[in-house]
Amino acid sequence: MNLILMGLPGAGKGTQAEKIVAKYGIPHISTGDMFRAAIKNGTELGLRAKAFMDEGNLVPDEVTIGIVRERLSKDDCENGFLLDGFPRTTAQASALEDILADLGRQLDHVLYVEVPKEDLFKRLTGRWICPDCGATYHELYNPPKVAGKCDKDGSELIQREDDKPETVGKRLEVNMEQTQPLVDFYEDKGYLRSLNGNKDINEVFEDIDGILKGSNQ
Ligand code: AMP
Repeated sequence: MNLILMGLPGAGKGTQAEKIVAKYGIPHISTGDMFRAAIKNGTELGLRAKAFMDEGNLVPDEVTIGIVRERLSKDDCENGFLLDGFPRTTAQASALEDILADLGRQLDHVLYVEVPKEDLFKRLTGRWICPDCGATYHELYNPPKVAGKCDKDGSELIQREDDKPETVGKRLEVNMEQTQPLVDFYEDKGYLRSLNGNKDINEVFEDIDGILKGSNQ
């Protein structure tokens, strides 16, 4: 099952990604997570990516495409993968087609979780994450059992710099401009599966699951 998961920031992509990989046993490949890990580990990739990320800009395509090519070539992707945060540009989408062709593979679905813009602001500014395991919570919709602490490892939850209210508005706008060409790209190719993300987490997952079960892979 070769999948892309798309959605504006706050649409619930991270939560659905966790559920998809748990049920279907495919690796979750998030370029944002890969860059954050590289920064944390102080690698050369991390150093290159950090300057762009800190400014809220995209990491250049040649860097991003290179890490995705390398990652998709690994053995654990043989039965499929869930790409999250990639592609972000149509150049990346075209490069992905080449990468998959080289690997003798093709996409199954592009899952697009849609939530009205007005709801996204509310969702984003209430999101907290675990700096150690990456688990995400929401103060209103998905609170941790103990306020401010991760359910999985008890770490102190933090708010991502780019989830702070002052940066959320700009981030949404930029993302909408970036996302639309990709939505058009995949719609034209017949891969786009639009989902209503303005529902309960489990209901959204049932819709996704219905699409995935319906595919014959
Ligand atoms: P995310 O966690 O997906 O919101 O990504 C965090 C940051 O990593 C983005 O704001 C970009 O700076 C960088 N990034 C992640 N994925 C990509 C991508 N596909 N292309 C370029 N930059 C990316």
